[in-house]
Amino acid sequence: MQRRILIADSIPANRVIFQVRLGDGFFRPLLTSDAASCLRAARRERPDLIVIDCDLPDMPGPQVIATLRADPRTRSLPVIALAGPDTPQKRLAALRAGADDVMTRPPDMAVMLARIRNLLRQREESQMMSRAWGGDLPERLGSEMLGLAEHKGSFQPVGPIGLIAARAETALHWKHKLAPRLREHARVLAPSEVSGYGDQTGQSHVFLIAADTGTHGGGLRLMTQLAGASPYRHSMFCIVAPETSDAAALAFDLGAHDVIDPEVTAEELDLRIRMLLRRKQRADAERNSIEAGLRLAIIDPLTGAYNRRYAFPRLAGIAEQAAVEGSEFAVLVLDLDRFKSVNDRYGHTTGDTVLIEVVRRLRENLRIEDLLARIGGEEFLIALPDTTAAEAHRIAERLRCVVGDTPVDGGNGVELQVTVSIGVKTGGGPMAAPEDITAMVDEADGALMRSKISGRNIVTLSHSPA
Ligand code: GH3
Ligand code: MG
Ligand code: MG
Repeated sequence: MQRRILIADSIPANRVIFQVRLGDGFFRPLLTSDAASCLRAARRERPDLIVIDCDLPDMPGPQVIATLRADPRTRSLPVIALAGPDTPQKRLAALRAGADDVMTRPPDMAVMLARIRNLLRQREESQMMSRAWGGDLPERLGSEMLGLAEHKGSFQPVGPIGLIAARAETALHWKHKLAPRLREHARVLAPSEVSGYGDQTGQSHVFLIAADTGTHGGGLRLMTQLAGASPYRHSMFCIVAPETSDAAALAFDLGAHDVIDPEVTAEELDLRIRMLLRRKQRADAERNSIEAGLRLAIIDPLTGAYNRRYAFPRLAGIAEQAAVEGSEFAVLVLDLDRFKSVNDRYGHTTGDTVLIEVVRRLRENLRIEDLLARIGGEEFLIALPDTTAAEAHRIAERLRCVVGDTPVDGGNGVELQVTVSIGVKTGGGPMAAPEDITAMVDEADGALMRSKISGRNIVTLSHSPA
């Protein structure tokens, strides 16, 4: 589908240029000549990106941008502002109002098209993240829910900023353009130094890299190398290159988050770096909440063991692997004995403490490759890959003992004697047909029932034919 670019420019000749060049770039232009019609079209036509000239006849550009940002329907649309040369205050005002970029009029159309592609790609990536999360993340979570409410400038993120240029003086010059608060986080780096720089998690990094570091275009190569390296995968990259250069267009197409002109004013440099730091912080928070959401979907929050939903597909994977290798494996089902009486006597909270401690003991006595899942209130499933029937029996006995031999500290001086009954079913082996895991779990369950009937705190092996 062709992306729709809304243009607001009062000069007819400029609109013609946009019409032709955007069409050449496989975009569909929507042309307006003043702020009122631009705002109307932004709400009605649902464009993918907006380009706004800062000198519209009916409203200052920054005000148009602020209006778009205040409206939920247009809030997240990428905006590029155009400002005349030598209007540093106008540029700052547009950025502060929420423009994603400001370009000097008349723009180099190759750079402009690359910037449009770049912003559309960034937006699609962030929408993909939202969908992975199961909703429209920016809207649904809002910055408040992420704990990021930006109390209008009261909280400004900072983080390590790496400055890289062929000549150290150039990078030092950038550093001195930054306001003191950012300057103390900025470091001039030799390209060779980069691999050793920064904290282990790669958090809060912004790199400012001269396009021609070392060789012509060397800075762009360095950016792509860094962006592919795990500590910097989530860093923000800003290339320093003349606004109307091939390097600027290439930088955008290679995924730079921003391109800054070498002649940039100190104020604009500082503001753009702060915008990148804020974007980095927001992206990190989004990623973390998605990871937390994914974790919640497979982990039991009380004990940290896997949940039922995760356990069965994983068990199927273990069975498949065993069939491929011709190896044996075991399924154990465990159930705490007379657990209801623990709750009845000491309360649910103490019961929870017992569950947590039992899982801790079980986990401590299992290998990394074993599966431990809580599949019911006080019922657990354990799968042991690459394990013979004799070994499985021994392991089940050991688990029974680690639960039952030492009382659990229930707090307030309460010591609880807890025991567990276990049913074991083994499968696999050379030449064996792939196992039906549901049947295996049922048989382990049957063995568990026999442990209960025989008096509890017992391990029973299922001996039904495989
Ligand atoms: P049996 O030896 O036959 O298994 O006896 P039981 O008392 O363990 O079995 P029953 O199925 O009668 O009771 C299970 C109890 O586990 C009931 C419930 O209160 C308790 N339980 C289940 N989930 C939780 C939980 O998350 N926390 C706590 N504290 N108790 C739980
Ligand atoms: Mg029980
Ligand atoms: Mg039970």
